[in-house]
Amino acid sequence: MAVETLRQHAIPFFSPLLGDEEIDSVVETLRSGWLTTGPKVKRFEQLFAESVSAGHAIAVNSCTAALHLALEAIGVGPGDEVLIPTLTFASTGEVIMHLGATPVLVDCGPDFLMDVAEMESKITPRTKAVIPVHYGGHPCDMERILNVARRHGIRVIEDAAHAIPARYGDRPIGTIGDLTYFSFYANKTITTGEGGMVTTNDAELADRVRLMSLHGISKDAWKRFSAEGSWYYEITAPGYKFNMTDIAAAIGIHQLAKSERFWQRRAQIAAQYDERFAFTPEVVTPTTDLHVQNAWHLYVIRLQVEDLTISRNEFITQLNQAGIGTSVHYLPLHMHPLYRERFGYATEDLPRGADLFQRIISLPIHPRLTDEDVDFVAATVNRLVDEHHR
Ligand SMILES: *Cc1c(COP(=O)(O)O)cnc(C)c1O
Repeated sequence: MAVETLRQHAIPFFSPLLGDEEIDSVVETLRSGWLTTGPKVKRFEQLFAESVSAGHAIAVNSCTAALHLALEAIGVGPGDEVLIPTLTFASTGEVIMHLGATPVLVDCGPDFLMDVAEMESKITPRTKAVIPVHYGGHPCDMERILNVARRHGIRVIEDAAHAIPARYGDRPIGTIGDLTYFSFYANKTITTGEGGMVTTNDAELADRVRLMSLHGISKDAWKRFSAEGSWYYEITAPGYKFNMTDIAAAIGIHQLAKSERFWQRRAQIAAQYDERFAFTPEVVTPTTDLHVQNAWHLYVIRLQVEDLTISRNEFITQLNQAGIGTSVHYLPLHMHPLYRERFGYATEDLPRGADLFQRIISLPIHPRLTDEDVDFVAATVNRLVDEHHR
Protein backbone atom coordinates (compact mmCIF):
# COMPACT_ATOMS: atom_id res chain seq x y z
CA MET A 1 0.00 0.00 0.00
CA ALA A 2 1.29 3.43 -0.87
CA VAL A 3 2.38 5.48 2.11
CA GLU A 4 -0.05 8.29 1.41
CA THR A 5 -3.12 6.06 1.72
CA LEU A 6 -2.29 5.53 5.39
CA ARG A 7 -2.88 9.15 6.22
CA GLN A 8 -5.78 10.00 8.46
CA HIS A 9 -6.00 13.74 8.08
CA ALA A 10 -7.55 15.65 5.27
CA ILE A 11 -5.50 18.58 4.00
CA PRO A 12 -7.58 21.69 3.45
CA PHE A 13 -6.83 23.90 0.45
CA PHE A 14 -6.50 26.82 2.83
CA SER A 15 -6.83 27.58 6.50
CA PRO A 16 -6.03 30.95 8.10
CA LEU A 17 -3.35 31.07 10.80
CA LEU A 18 -4.54 33.19 13.72
CA GLY A 19 -2.82 33.27 17.11
CA ASP A 20 -3.49 34.50 20.63
CA GLU A 21 -2.20 37.94 19.55
CA GLU A 22 -5.11 38.39 17.12
CA ILE A 23 -7.63 36.92 19.58
CA ASP A 24 -6.46 39.06 22.52
CA SER A 25 -6.41 42.15 20.34
CA VAL A 26 -10.01 41.59 19.21
CA VAL A 27 -11.14 41.03 22.81
CA GLU A 28 -9.35 44.17 23.90
CA THR A 29 -11.04 46.10 21.08
CA LEU A 30 -14.47 44.78 22.11
CA ARG A 31 -13.83 45.79 25.72
CA SER A 32 -12.61 49.24 24.65
CA GLY A 33 -16.08 50.13 23.41
CA TRP A 34 -14.64 51.47 20.12
CA LEU A 35 -15.87 48.97 17.53
CA THR A 36 -15.86 50.76 14.23
CA THR A 37 -13.26 52.93 12.46
CA GLY A 38 -10.97 54.35 15.12
CA PRO A 39 -7.47 54.11 16.57
CA LYS A 40 -6.82 50.50 15.48
CA VAL A 41 -7.67 51.31 11.86
CA LYS A 42 -5.42 54.35 11.95
CA ARG A 43 -2.57 52.25 13.33
CA PHE A 44 -3.13 49.49 10.76
CA GLU A 45 -3.07 52.05 7.95
CA GLN A 46 0.21 53.53 9.22
CA LEU A 47 1.85 50.12 9.58
CA PHE A 48 0.61 48.96 6.19
CA ALA A 49 1.80 52.14 4.45
CA GLU A 50 5.24 51.63 6.03
CA SER A 51 5.34 47.98 4.98
CA VAL A 52 4.93 48.85 1.28
CA SER A 53 6.70 52.25 1.49
CA ALA A 54 3.54 54.07 0.41
CA GLY A 55 2.73 57.67 1.23
CA HIS A 56 -0.92 56.84 1.87
CA ALA A 57 -2.95 53.79 2.88
CA ILE A 58 -6.73 53.74 3.30
CA ALA A 59 -8.29 50.70 4.99
CA VAL A 60 -11.72 49.54 3.78
CA ASN A 61 -14.08 46.63 4.34
CA SER A 62 -13.04 44.59 1.28
CA CYS A 63 -10.65 44.52 -1.62
CA THR A 64 -13.62 44.87 -3.94
CA ALA A 65 -14.52 48.13 -2.16
CA ALA A 66 -10.88 49.22 -2.48
CA LEU A 67 -11.01 48.65 -6.24
CA HIS A 68 -14.32 50.52 -6.46
CA LEU A 69 -12.80 53.54 -4.72
CA ALA A 70 -9.62 53.40 -6.83
CA LEU A 71 -11.59 53.42 -10.09
CA GLU A 72 -13.85 56.19 -8.80
CA ALA A 73 -10.85 58.27 -7.78
CA ILE A 74 -9.40 58.25 -11.29
CA GLY A 75 -12.82 59.17 -12.67
CA VAL A 76 -13.89 55.96 -14.42
CA GLY A 77 -17.48 56.38 -15.61
CA PRO A 78 -20.00 55.65 -18.38
CA GLY A 79 -18.40 55.24 -21.81
CA ASP A 80 -14.97 54.38 -20.45
CA GLU A 81 -13.12 51.13 -21.05
CA VAL A 82 -10.85 49.44 -18.53
CA LEU A 83 -8.43 46.69 -19.57
CA ILE A 84 -8.23 43.63 -17.31
CA PRO A 85 -6.84 40.11 -17.69
CA THR A 86 -9.39 37.37 -18.30
CA LEU A 87 -7.73 35.16 -15.67
CA THR A 88 -8.93 36.94 -12.56
CA PHE A 89 -11.60 37.00 -9.87
CA ALA A 90 -15.14 38.32 -10.38
CA SER A 91 -14.58 41.63 -8.61
CA THR A 92 -11.95 42.94 -11.00
CA GLY A 93 -14.58 43.10 -13.75
CA GLU A 94 -17.84 43.71 -11.89
CA VAL A 95 -16.79 46.97 -10.28
CA ILE A 96 -15.97 48.44 -13.68
CA MET A 97 -19.58 47.70 -14.67
CA HIS A 98 -20.93 49.21 -11.42
CA LEU A 99 -19.34 52.49 -12.53
CA GLY A 100 -21.04 52.26 -15.93
CA ALA A 101 -17.79 51.47 -17.77
CA THR A 102 -16.84 48.44 -19.88
CA PRO A 103 -14.28 45.81 -18.90
CA VAL A 104 -12.15 44.81 -21.90
CA LEU A 105 -10.60 41.39 -21.40
CA VAL A 106 -7.00 40.60 -22.26
CA ASP A 107 -5.55 37.10 -22.68
CA CYS A 108 -2.69 35.81 -20.58
CA GLY A 109 0.60 34.04 -21.19
CA PRO A 110 1.71 30.67 -19.79
CA ASP A 111 2.94 32.59 -16.72
CA PHE A 112 -0.75 33.38 -15.98
CA LEU A 113 -0.08 37.13 -16.31
CA MET A 114 -1.77 39.58 -18.68
CA ASP A 115 -0.16 39.68 -22.14
CA VAL A 116 1.14 43.24 -22.37
CA ALA A 117 1.40 43.29 -26.19
CA GLU A 118 -2.23 42.21 -26.51
CA MET A 119 -3.19 44.75 -23.84
CA GLU A 120 -1.63 47.54 -25.89
CA SER A 121 -3.43 46.35 -29.02
CA LYS A 122 -6.78 46.68 -27.21
CA ILE A 123 -6.31 50.32 -26.20
CA THR A 124 -8.88 52.65 -27.81
CA PRO A 125 -9.62 56.36 -27.37
CA ARG A 126 -12.11 55.30 -24.67
CA THR A 127 -9.56 53.35 -22.59
CA LYS A 128 -9.19 54.97 -19.19
CA ALA A 129 -7.14 52.50 -17.23
CA VAL A 130 -5.56 49.07 -17.04
CA ILE A 131 -5.69 46.75 -14.03
CA PRO A 132 -2.76 44.32 -14.01
CA VAL A 133 -3.42 41.42 -11.62
CA HIS A 134 -0.38 40.07 -9.78
CA TYR A 135 -1.74 36.57 -10.24
CA GLY A 136 -0.86 34.13 -7.48
CA GLY A 137 1.44 36.74 -5.96
CA HIS A 138 3.81 37.01 -8.94
CA PRO A 139 4.24 40.68 -9.90
CA CYS A 140 3.41 41.65 -13.49
CA ASP A 141 6.02 43.25 -15.73
CA MET A 142 5.28 46.70 -14.36
CA GLU A 143 7.98 48.52 -16.30
CA ARG A 144 6.50 47.44 -19.62
CA ILE A 145 2.96 48.10 -18.46
CA LEU A 146 3.85 51.59 -17.21
CA ASN A 147 5.61 52.39 -20.48
CA VAL A 148 2.58 51.39 -22.53
CA ALA A 149 0.26 53.25 -20.15
CA ARG A 150 2.32 56.45 -20.30
CA ARG A 151 2.52 56.32 -24.07
CA HIS A 152 -1.28 56.12 -24.30
CA GLY A 153 -2.13 58.35 -21.34
CA ILE A 154 -4.00 55.72 -19.35
CA ARG A 155 -3.96 55.05 -15.60
CA VAL A 156 -2.57 51.93 -13.92
CA ILE A 157 -4.36 50.36 -10.95
CA GLU A 158 -2.68 47.26 -9.53
CA ASP A 159 -4.74 44.32 -8.28
CA ALA A 160 -2.51 43.14 -5.44
CA ALA A 161 -5.13 40.89 -3.82
CA HIS A 162 -2.58 38.05 -3.97
CA ALA A 163 0.53 40.13 -3.49
CA ILE A 164 1.37 40.52 0.20
CA PRO A 165 4.36 40.59 0.42
CA ALA A 166 5.57 40.84 -3.17
CA ARG A 167 8.40 42.89 -4.66
CA TYR A 168 9.19 44.13 -8.12
CA GLY A 169 12.92 44.68 -8.27
CA ASP A 170 13.72 46.26 -4.92
CA ARG A 171 10.28 47.88 -4.59
CA PRO A 172 7.43 46.37 -2.61
CA ILE A 173 4.18 46.13 -4.58
CA GLY A 174 2.08 49.10 -3.45
CA THR A 175 3.17 52.29 -5.21
CA ILE A 176 4.25 51.39 -8.73
CA GLY A 177 0.94 52.13 -10.46
CA ASP A 178 -1.29 55.15 -9.69
CA LEU A 179 -3.16 53.17 -7.04
CA THR A 180 -2.82 49.64 -5.65
CA TYR A 181 -5.42 47.59 -3.81
CA PHE A 182 -5.00 44.62 -1.46
CA SER A 183 -7.29 41.97 0.04
CA PHE A 184 -7.55 40.66 3.60
CA TYR A 185 -10.28 38.16 2.76
CA ALA A 186 -10.23 34.99 4.90
CA ASN A 187 -8.19 32.93 2.40
CA LYS A 188 -5.64 35.57 1.42
CA THR A 189 -2.00 35.65 2.58
CA ILE A 190 -2.94 37.82 5.55
CA THR A 191 -6.51 38.28 6.73
CA THR A 192 -8.88 40.46 8.73
CA GLY A 193 -11.85 38.17 7.96
CA GLU A 194 -13.07 40.70 5.43
CA GLY A 195 -11.02 43.75 4.52
CA GLY A 196 -8.99 45.62 1.95
CA MET A 197 -6.52 48.47 1.54
CA VAL A 198 -5.79 51.12 -1.06
CA THR A 199 -2.26 52.49 -1.28
CA THR A 200 -0.83 55.33 -3.36
CA ASN A 201 1.83 58.03 -3.32
CA ASP A 202 -0.60 60.53 -4.85
CA ALA A 203 -2.05 62.73 -2.08
CA GLU A 204 -4.98 63.94 -4.18
CA LEU A 205 -6.06 60.41 -5.15
CA ALA A 206 -5.65 59.31 -1.52
CA ASP A 207 -7.89 62.19 -0.36
CA ARG A 208 -10.57 61.22 -2.87
CA VAL A 209 -10.45 57.55 -1.84
CA ARG A 210 -10.73 58.48 1.84
CA LEU A 211 -13.57 60.93 1.23
CA MET A 212 -15.60 58.41 -0.79
CA SER A 213 -14.91 55.54 1.62
CA LEU A 214 -17.22 57.09 4.20
CA HIS A 215 -20.29 58.82 2.76
CA GLY A 216 -18.34 61.64 1.07
CA ILE A 217 -18.11 63.35 4.42
CA SER A 218 -15.43 66.02 4.29
CA LYS A 219 -12.88 65.69 7.06
CA ASP A 220 -11.79 69.21 6.24
CA ALA A 221 -15.19 70.38 7.35
CA TRP A 222 -14.53 68.78 10.73
CA LYS A 223 -11.37 70.81 11.05
CA ARG A 224 -12.73 74.04 9.63
CA PHE A 225 -15.79 74.04 11.81
CA SER A 226 -14.31 72.51 14.90
CA ALA A 227 -15.62 75.47 16.87
CA GLU A 228 -19.11 74.16 16.15
CA GLY A 229 -18.41 70.94 18.02
CA SER A 230 -17.73 67.37 16.96
CA TRP A 231 -21.30 66.76 15.77
CA TYR A 232 -20.80 68.93 12.71
CA TYR A 233 -19.99 67.49 9.27
CA GLU A 234 -20.52 68.34 5.63
CA ILE A 235 -21.34 65.99 2.76
CA THR A 236 -19.40 66.93 -0.35
CA ALA A 237 -20.01 63.91 -2.62
CA PRO A 238 -22.27 60.84 -2.76
CA GLY A 239 -19.83 58.48 -1.06
CA TYR A 240 -19.97 54.84 -0.04
CA LYS A 241 -20.01 52.92 3.25
CA PHE A 242 -16.74 51.06 2.84
CA ASN A 243 -14.87 51.83 6.09
CA MET A 244 -12.97 49.13 8.00
CA THR A 245 -13.91 48.32 11.61
CA ASP A 246 -11.44 48.47 14.49
CA ILE A 247 -12.28 44.82 15.17
CA ALA A 248 -10.92 43.87 11.74
CA ALA A 249 -7.90 46.18 12.07
CA ALA A 250 -7.09 44.57 15.45
CA ILE A 251 -6.59 41.30 13.55
CA GLY A 252 -4.80 42.95 10.64
CA ILE A 253 -2.14 44.62 12.77
CA HIS A 254 -0.93 41.24 14.01
CA GLN A 255 -1.33 39.47 10.68
CA LEU A 256 0.79 42.16 9.03
CA ALA A 257 3.51 41.68 11.64
CA LYS A 258 3.54 37.96 10.78
CA SER A 259 3.36 38.39 7.00
CA GLU A 260 7.09 37.95 6.40
CA ARG A 261 7.17 34.74 8.44
CA PHE A 262 4.06 33.41 6.64
CA TRP A 263 5.71 34.26 3.33
CA GLN A 264 8.92 32.43 4.20
CA ARG A 265 6.94 29.30 4.97
CA ARG A 266 4.96 29.53 1.71
CA ALA A 267 8.20 30.02 -0.26
CA GLN A 268 9.60 26.88 1.42
CA ILE A 269 6.50 24.93 0.45
CA ALA A 270 6.78 26.15 -3.15
CA ALA A 271 10.41 25.01 -3.25
CA GLN A 272 9.43 21.63 -1.83
CA TYR A 273 6.74 21.17 -4.51
CA ASP A 274 9.22 22.27 -7.21
CA GLU A 275 11.64 19.61 -6.03
CA ARG A 276 9.01 16.86 -5.86
CA PHE A 277 7.75 17.61 -9.39
CA ALA A 278 11.21 18.10 -10.95
CA PHE A 279 11.04 14.65 -12.57
CA THR A 280 7.35 14.75 -13.47
CA PRO A 281 7.18 16.44 -16.88
CA GLU A 282 3.38 15.98 -16.92
CA VAL A 283 3.20 18.53 -14.08
CA VAL A 284 4.43 21.96 -15.17
CA THR A 285 5.33 24.04 -12.13
CA PRO A 286 5.04 27.83 -11.78
CA THR A 287 8.15 29.86 -12.51
CA THR A 288 9.29 33.08 -10.84
CA ASP A 289 11.17 35.85 -12.65
CA LEU A 290 14.60 36.57 -11.22
CA HIS A 291 13.96 40.22 -10.39
CA VAL A 292 10.73 39.72 -8.39
CA GLN A 293 9.60 38.34 -5.07
CA ASN A 294 6.61 36.05 -5.52
CA ALA A 295 4.19 36.32 -2.59
CA TRP A 296 3.17 32.68 -3.25
CA HIS A 297 -0.52 33.16 -2.52
CA LEU A 298 -1.11 30.33 -5.01
CA TYR A 299 0.91 27.37 -6.26
CA VAL A 300 -0.71 26.56 -9.60
CA ILE A 301 0.38 23.50 -11.54
CA ARG A 302 -0.40 22.98 -15.23
CA LEU A 303 -1.19 19.39 -16.17
CA GLN A 304 0.03 18.14 -19.53
CA VAL A 305 -3.43 16.70 -20.10
CA GLU A 306 -2.37 15.36 -23.53
CA ASP A 307 -0.22 12.80 -21.69
CA LEU A 308 -2.95 11.73 -19.26
CA THR A 309 -6.01 9.52 -19.61
CA ILE A 310 -8.01 11.65 -17.16
CA SER A 311 -9.11 15.27 -17.34
CA ARG A 312 -8.16 18.03 -14.94
CA ASN A 313 -11.61 17.72 -13.33
CA GLU A 314 -11.15 14.00 -12.75
CA PHE A 315 -7.65 14.67 -11.40
CA ILE A 316 -9.18 17.08 -8.86
CA THR A 317 -11.84 14.52 -7.90
CA GLN A 318 -9.17 11.92 -7.21
CA LEU A 319 -7.09 14.39 -5.16
CA ASN A 320 -10.25 15.07 -3.17
CA GLN A 321 -10.79 11.37 -2.60
CA ALA A 322 -7.28 11.24 -1.16
CA GLY A 323 -8.28 14.01 1.28
CA ILE A 324 -6.56 16.89 -0.50
CA GLY A 325 -8.37 20.18 -1.00
CA THR A 326 -7.57 22.07 -4.20
CA SER A 327 -9.03 24.92 -6.20
CA VAL A 328 -9.01 26.39 -9.71
CA HIS A 329 -7.99 30.01 -10.29
CA TYR A 330 -9.93 30.78 -12.40
CA LEU A 331 -12.59 29.98 -14.93
CA PRO A 332 -11.53 32.88 -17.22
CA LEU A 333 -13.98 35.79 -17.10
CA HIS A 334 -14.70 35.55 -20.84
CA MET A 335 -16.11 32.03 -20.35
CA HIS A 336 -18.70 33.14 -17.76
CA PRO A 337 -22.32 33.69 -18.88
CA LEU A 338 -22.16 37.38 -17.88
CA TYR A 339 -19.34 38.10 -20.32
CA ARG A 340 -20.59 35.77 -23.06
CA GLU A 341 -24.09 37.21 -22.97
CA ARG A 342 -23.43 40.88 -22.25
CA PHE A 343 -20.27 41.39 -24.29
CA GLY A 344 -20.45 38.51 -26.78
CA TYR A 345 -17.18 36.82 -25.85
CA ALA A 346 -16.57 33.31 -27.18
CA THR A 347 -14.18 30.84 -25.58
CA GLU A 348 -11.79 31.00 -28.54
CA ASP A 349 -11.55 34.81 -28.39
CA LEU A 350 -8.97 34.46 -25.60
CA PRO A 351 -7.59 31.00 -26.41
CA ARG A 352 -4.60 30.90 -24.09
CA GLY A 353 -6.68 31.57 -20.98
CA ALA A 354 -9.21 28.99 -22.15
CA ASP A 355 -6.43 26.43 -22.71
CA LEU A 356 -4.87 27.11 -19.30
CA PHE A 357 -8.26 26.56 -17.72
CA GLN A 358 -8.25 22.89 -18.87
CA ARG A 359 -4.92 22.31 -17.09
CA ILE A 360 -4.66 24.31 -13.90
CA ILE A 361 -4.94 23.11 -10.33
CA SER A 362 -4.09 25.24 -7.30
CA LEU A 363 -2.43 23.05 -4.65
CA PRO A 364 -2.53 23.84 -0.92
CA ILE A 365 0.13 26.39 0.07
CA HIS A 366 -0.31 27.95 3.50
CA PRO A 367 1.75 28.15 6.67
CA ARG A 368 -0.24 25.53 8.59
CA LEU A 369 0.99 22.78 6.27
CA THR A 370 3.75 20.53 7.60
CA ASP A 371 6.57 19.17 5.42
CA GLU A 372 4.79 15.84 5.71
CA ASP A 373 1.55 17.37 4.36
CA VAL A 374 3.38 18.84 1.38
CA ASP A 375 5.11 15.54 0.66
CA PHE A 376 1.77 13.76 0.82
CA VAL A 377 0.19 16.19 -1.66
CA ALA A 378 3.15 15.89 -4.05
CA ALA A 379 3.30 12.09 -3.71
CA THR A 380 -0.41 11.84 -4.46
CA VAL A 381 -0.10 14.06 -7.56
CA ASN A 382 2.84 11.98 -8.78
CA ARG A 383 0.96 8.74 -8.09
CA LEU A 384 -2.08 9.94 -10.06
CA VAL A 385 0.18 10.90 -12.98
CA ASP A 386 1.72 7.40 -12.89
CA GLU A 387 -1.64 5.66 -12.68
CA HIS A 388 -3.23 7.66 -15.48
CA HIS A 389 -0.38 8.02 -17.88
CA ARG A 390 -1.19 7.62 -21.55
C1 LIG B 1 -9.86 37.98 -3.51
C2 LIG B 1 -9.70 38.82 -4.73
C3 LIG B 1 -10.35 40.05 -4.88
C4 LIG B 1 -11.42 40.53 -3.94
O1 LIG B 1 -11.09 40.52 -2.62
P1 LIG B 1 -12.22 40.77 -1.51
O2 LIG B 1 -11.45 41.22 -0.32
O3 LIG B 1 -12.90 39.45 -1.30
O4 LIG B 1 -13.15 41.81 -2.01
C5 LIG B 1 -10.05 40.81 -5.99
N1 LIG B 1 -9.19 40.41 -6.92
C6 LIG B 1 -8.56 39.22 -6.83
C7 LIG B 1 -7.60 38.81 -7.90
C8 LIG B 1 -8.83 38.38 -5.74
O5 LIG B 1 -8.23 37.18 -5.67
